[in-house]
Amino acid sequence: MLVVLVAASTACRGDETRPPAAPVTTRNVLLITIDTLRADRVGAYGDSTARTPAIDSLAARGVRFTSAFAAAPITLTSHASMMTGRYPAGHGARHNGMHVDLAVPTLADALSAAGFTTAAFVGAFPLDRRFGLIKGFQTYGDRMPRGADGRPANERPGQLVVDEAADWLQKHRGDRFFLWVHLFEPHAPYGDPRTGRPAAARYADDVAEADRQVARLLESLGTAAASTLIALTSDHGEAFGEHGEIAHSIFVYDTTLRVPLVVAGPGIIARALGDPVSLVDLAPTIVRQVGAGTFDADGIDLSPVMAGAEAPNRILYAESFAPLLDFGWSPLRSVRTGGWKYTAAPKPELYRTADDPSEARNAIDSERSRVAALQAEVDRFSGATLPAGRQMDSEAAARLQALGYVSGRPAGTARPDPKDRRDMAARIAQVTSGEVHGPALGRLLKEILANEPQNPLANLRLGYVLLEADRCREAVPKFRVAIAEKYPSADAHLGLAACQAAQRDFTGAASTLRAADSVEPGNPVVLANLGLVLSDGGRPAEAINPLQRALTTDPDLHQARFGLAIAFARVGRRSDAANQAEELLRRLPPNAPQRSEVERLLASVK
Ligand SMILES: [Zn+2]
Repeated sequence: MLVVLVAASTACRGDETRPPAAPVTTRNVLLITIDTLRADRVGAYGDSTARTPAIDSLAARGVRFTSAFAAAPITLTSHASMMTGRYPAGHGARHNGMHVDLAVPTLADALSAAGFTTAAFVGAFPLDRRFGLIKGFQTYGDRMPRGADGRPANERPGQLVVDEAADWLQKHRGDRFFLWVHLFEPHAPYGDPRTGRPAAARYADDVAEADRQVARLLESLGTAAASTLIALTSDHGEAFGEHGEIAHSIFVYDTTLRVPLVVAGPGIIARALGDPVSLVDLAPTIVRQVGAGTFDADGIDLSPVMAGAEAPNRILYAESFAPLLDFGWSPLRSVRTGGWKYTAAPKPELYRTADDPSEARNAIDSERSRVAALQAEVDRFSGATLPAGRQMDSEAAARLQALGYVSGRPAGTARPDPKDRRDMAARIAQVTSGEVHGPALGRLLKEILANEPQNPLANLRLGYVLLEADRCREAVPKFRVAIAEKYPSADAHLGLAACQAAQRDFTGAASTLRAADSVEPGNPVVLANLGLVLSDGGRPAEAINPLQRALTTDPDLHQARFGLAIAFARVGRRSDAANQAEELLRRLPPNAPQRSEVERLLASVK
């Protein structure tokens, strides 16, 4: 019966269909974003081997957009476009680590003002509250688990995210709510690369895990399910060698821009829609669907299209400034309209995506007048440079590097075309993705350094590979190059200091860490390490101040507190040592392996 209905309503397309009044039965909104999910790896989008039953059944009862595109292949940038309905120039967060302009209205603002209880639970650091997406959310769950040393991780499993979201739903299911849940599977590294399973298979495993978490989340809606509008999408795709690209962020091919987009809920008729849409359309659509008025955005309300109206002719934009911000290469800006896609670059590209969806045949030379018109359109959306004064803070940069988001310094004024640097970009992406380990990683880094001996990131990473292999003698010069090349975080100093401390050169390690404190003033990990090497180097009295400063910034930096207790014990301040040990026992989880060591210390000073 449903099939007949779908066919009938599709046949009505092109009628003068008015925007439907918001169905009174739509009370709540659930937005699910699955990071790095390619549309073509989802069952409902044609992958017969995908294990995505939850997404597939949502798609079967909702509108499935088959040509949905992200505004940027970058986590924060794309999510910010989703939440503000604006292309990146309109919200300012052109790369991970930058900040969303707080003056720009968000979907959460709009729904909060309309009386919704709002909450978000995210799976990774690029969406940390400090970057601005918290605005409009009354609850923002972005606490990452901590490692044994107390440092917060850069990501967390979707299971934990959904646990928190389900707890929240338990309390707020009766409210009118807007809930956003972000799952970081299947972002690289996919599963455990050391298993030797091929990357594509591990990626598919992660997609299946994300789908299991979607199922749990939908289950936890309980009685609210029938009155909840559910939108599911991804922030960008993922490249497995297409166009010479690995992972995502540099290029703006549809490999990394095309995403799944499914909208289901009360009154929404199941159908597949092939009209090109952008994630900037999501916020105005959701606001309209719940009857919360209209939402001023670059995107449009898709409700009429979802109800069968013809999609308006328009131009969709996408960009990546990662080439500029990470490597000093030219940014890439693209527009798509009328079956064509144009990318502005030193060597521009034009594809007739209508019959060349994989963007294989550049038609730039045969379409000169079209190119001129599309170049003018690109420039209307954004220039090729960024407004001054947008910088990321250095701790953010360091953590983003750990997640695979490089952030070197823009260099020089001549901007190479990223296409001409694709081999280098792919090698660096393999390094930063966390997909390559051990000797293979060492070989890859040496290849990069053969081409770019001074590359600070490659020197830094090779330094760590050597450090982990207990080859400090070789690691030290690598760290020194990274430092000389002004690597924009304290990571190179931390590596060098670790080698110096391993070689029992505590004085050298302390002076390296003092230099690191000027690269990243107040970084608690630098201060903690400075305290630890001073204390181990026979200067426990000098160690106390940096350790205390580290703990002021991050009271859960357990290694620093343990080091502080030892430093107090070493200078004879036994009751201070006991206090710190007791405080540490209060803060450590009941099953933490370090407890017995702390208890021994406590017993020795009591
Ligand atoms: Zn992402």
